[in-house]
This record gives sequence, C-alpha cells and structure tokens, in this order.
Amino acid sequence: MKRREILKSLTLLPLAGGITATAAPLNNMLSAPAAGRDLFKELGIRTFINAAGNYTVMSGCLMPPEVMDAINAASKKFALVDDVQEKVGERIAQICHAEAALVSAGCWSALMLGMAGVLTGMDSKRVSQVPNLAGTGMKSEVILQKSHSMGYDHALTQAGVKLIKVETREEVEAAINENTAMLWFLNREVNVGKIKHQEWLELGKKYNLPTMIDIAADVPPVENLWKFNDMGFDLVVISGGKAMRGPQSAGILMGKKKYVDAARLSNNPRGGIGRGQKVNKEEVFGMYAALERFVNLDHKKEWEMWERKIAYIAGVIKSIPGVSTSTHIPATEDNKMPTLKVTWDPNKIKLTNVEMGERLRKGSPSVEVISWEAPNTLRCGMHVLEAGEEKIVASRLKEELLKASV
Ligand SMILES: *Cc1c(COP(=O)(O)O)cnc(C)c1O
Repeated sequence: MKRREILKSLTLLPLAGGITATAAPLNNMLSAPAAGRDLFKELGIRTFINAAGNYTVMSGCLMPPEVMDAINAASKKFALVDDVQEKVGERIAQICHAEAALVSAGCWSALMLGMAGVLTGMDSKRVSQVPNLAGTGMKSEVILQKSHSMGYDHALTQAGVKLIKVETREEVEAAINENTAMLWFLNREVNVGKIKHQEWLELGKKYNLPTMIDIAADVPPVENLWKFNDMGFDLVVISGGKAMRGPQSAGILMGKKKYVDAARLSNNPRGGIGRGQKVNKEEVFGMYAALERFVNLDHKKEWEMWERKIAYIAGVIKSIPGVSTSTHIPATEDNKMPTLKVTWDPNKIKLTNVEMGERLRKGSPSVEVISWEAPNTLRCGMHVLEAGEEKIVASRLKEELLKASV
C-alpha cells in the first residue's frame, strides 16, 4: 500500500478495532464531573503513543503548556479578529524577517490565501470573483516543477488557477505568458527538482512574477523560518501544527506586505474564499506562542534528546537475532530530524512490516510507528514522543520481535 492509502486506512481504526478504550455506560457519562473528564475514554476513542510523526491523520502534534496557556488566555476575552491578526502578524513578521504575516487555518489555507492575494491585489471586486477567474482580467496559471507536485499544490487550485508543470529552465521560460500569475516552489523536494531556489527567484525577477515557497514541515532547522524571506521569496507558507507544535488548525502566510494584505481580503472574517477556513483568536495566539517557544528552544539539546531515545530503544532490541538498527534522517528537506530505523531478517523474524504496525497498534498501550515504507522495516519518530515513552516503545518492539522470532 502507498503511504497515503495506509494513512487513510488509519482513520477507520477506532471503529474497526475498538482497541484499548471502551465506552463508558451512558449513565456514567451523564453524571461525569466536568473537571478531569477523559473524553477519549468516555467516547471510546483509541489513543496511542505516537512514535511516527506529525501526521495530520494522527492529529498532528501535542501542544505544549505555553501554547495551551495562550489559547486559554485568548478564550477569556473578546477582541476584534482583525486586531488580533494585525498585532500578532506584526510580531510573527518581525521574528521571521518578513514584511507582514497572518495566521491561517494550516499551511493549506496559507497556500490558498496567498494565491488569492496574488490574483486579486487590493481589488474587492476581484476578491468576490475568485475562484471563477475566466473573464475577470485576473491571471490564471501557476508554474511549478513536476517533482514539486505531490498533492499540496492542489491548495492553489482552490483559488481557481491552473497548474503548469515543467522540468527545465527552458520549459519555465516557454510556459510563461500573459496568464502566468506566480512561480511556486516546494522546498521539500529541492534536491529532486532541476531548478533550485536562486534560479527560481532569478526567473521570478526576470519575468516580474511573484514567487511562493511551501516550507510546511521544514523546521527544524529553526533558521528556515527566516531563510526564505531573506532569500527573497515573495510569499512563504508553513504549518503551525507540525514540529512547531502549535494548533493543528494553524499555519502562517508571510512575505511581502502587498500580497499578505491582499490575502487578508479573502480571509475570514470577510466573505472571500477563506471564510470557510476560520481561525479565531485562540488559534492566532496559540500559533504565536508556539512560534516563540520554538525559536527560543535549545535545538541542540532537543536533537541530543532524540539521539538518546534512539540509542535507548536500539539498545533494547538490537541483540535480537536478525534485527539491525540505525539512525535515519529523511533525504527530503522536511522533517529533518533523526528517527530510529529498524530492519529485520524475514528468515529469522516472521512478520511483515504491515503486520508489525498492526500488532503495535492493537497492543496495550497502542503504539503508532512508520510501518508502511519498506518490507521488514519500520521507523520510529522521536520528536513526537512524550518523556519516558521511549521505554514503552522499546519494550513493545522487543516483545513483538521476540514473539515472531523463529
Ligand atoms: C503538511 C503540509 C501542508 C499542509 O499543511 P497543513 O498545516 O496541514 O494545512 C502543505 N504542504 C506540505 C509540503 C506539507 O507537508
């Protein structure tokens, strides 16, 4: 199965498995005290130790206390959404070396809103016409590299544009015409695409076209928060609920003021295409607190902690005959964090990677790992583990590997 199919199938699990949690009887539920309620338990929803990563289908990330404090503080007072967005946007822009910023409903919404801003400018009639671009005088095409097209570019089409996919510089230049609205870049795949950042920016300059870069999951390194603004991309979009551990329903659109200001016109609380992707003061404050926390984190210490966890788990399982362990950092530019890779000899351990994933999932406690990538292999993400959970992951892995040993 492809990664996406497996991830999709995970959403069915709570129904199919009913695994660790059991629903409380109705009368219990009605008399349950408000404080300290465990709604997961009450409603019979499987919870798990996440040793995989910031997957949207797995609910993304856990928000740290600093983020929850900001969200709770936001929930206690009324304010104009525009005022909240304006003040927080200024601070985010400062931190990230951008002219302006806004908090969007995830990186997906930032892609769509930034695209809308580029198309409409400050013209409110145009804002009301998006995504029906034909006959409006708005441009309607976005150029990107084929290797950068992996599903997220679909967000741009919500603003009505057509995607023109190319491979070489010559193809970019041939594709540019009077309908070209923007050049779009996916940082994650920079190593695969023929055209790198600088050349992409040069092309934008040469043809006077705005450029947007998607860096959704590309921190750490923390410097990526400002690197692409410094480089000269007109718009930069990033997720809030991945390694930054902000609200899963938050992201950031940042860059040149004229485009961010234009994007605001399509966003809530106004009635443009962003109206259905509402973020309120809670997400905006939560995003801001998460960004501040992330920038102030000791990233070297974090990295060392992940390595310690990897060493701990590897130490528990590597003496099992047929098992080998290594540290794996993704080759793409996203999720650049050390993970534990476990491989086993199928002649010594009779278990497929998918079966292994399922046994860990159905165990107690339930554990999710990356089990869909390669035969007889799994990976464990460390940055999503809470303190001490590496011990549970290690013992569950050991148990299942030994059980399947011949
Ligand atoms: C996750 C991701 C997105 C979408 O981000 P959300 O914050 O989930 O909306 C967009 N682009 C890329 C490359 C991503 O990895």
